Amino acid sequence: MLTGIIFDVKKYAIHDGPGIRTTVFFKGCPLNCQWCHNPESVDPDPEPSLDYRDPFRLDPYGEDHPGAIGEEVAAEAVMDEILKDRIFYEESGGGVTFSGGEPLIQPDFLAYLLKKCKQEEIHTAVDTSGFAPRVTLEKIADSVDLFLFDLKLVDTKLHEEYTSVGNERILDNLKFLDDNDREVELRFPLIPSITDGEENVEGIKGIIEGGSGFRKISILPFHDVEKKYSRLGLDFSLAGLEPPEENEIKRIKDELEKTGIMVEVGG
Ligand code: SF4
Repeated sequence: MLTGIIFDVKKYAIHDGPGIRTTVFFKGCPLNCQWCHNPESVDPDPEPSLDYRDPFRLDPYGEDHPGAIGEEVAAEAVMDEILKDRIFYEESGGGVTFSGGEPLIQPDFLAYLLKKCKQEEIHTAVDTSGFAPRVTLEKIADSVDLFLFDLKLVDTKLHEEYTSVGNERILDNLKFLDDNDREVELRFPLIPSITDGEENVEGIKGIIEGGSGFRKISILPFHDVEKKYSRLGLDFSLAGLEPPEENEIKRIKDELEKTGIMVEVGG
């Protein structure tokens, strides 16, 4: 039985791709971004929680897991859950989004779910940091209708400082997807004093202009998640950082729009 580790399934999601979607959150991420809004996603294994708030659980084995974040689930059980909302996908132009964490770190589990969704003619999106072996991207690319691809920091040293990994592999994978005419929407976390500098924004513009047709870019403004970290017993290194002002978000939006790409805030 093929299994994977997930930590949530969100129904009726409207910010994870087109239409109404089911978003499956994979557990585990090779990055450790200082602003991560899903700190419970980073560790690849199920872990105890200080704050069990009854997140959605598939519980395919008929067991209860109070006090745990994440569980090992059968791929078929996830598929059963996805199929329950087919009517919403069809009526809204929606589908399924695989997110996390980083879905590409469970390649067999992800490939299976993507393939099954394609067989069921359900639209698929993969929300990724792009930090994955090329072979994994090649394995899944034909079954993905849309990549939601993070662009954080253009300078690799800064990328490593704030996310724990350099960006060479990420940019290389983005180029691979673009060169192979994959549908890609970019996502730019706007983190005051970290990603909003002129040099970084110009670098992001350069990547957009160097591509052959990214669909759009979504600006994801920082918001404080210190309370979430403390509930998990973790320190939030950006505690106290103020969210970007509206005029600052507009300034960055205006800059990115100069490339001709569609720019959204949020999403
Ligand atoms: S890539 Fe996403 S999930 Fe992974 S640490 Fe960064 S923000 Fe969190």
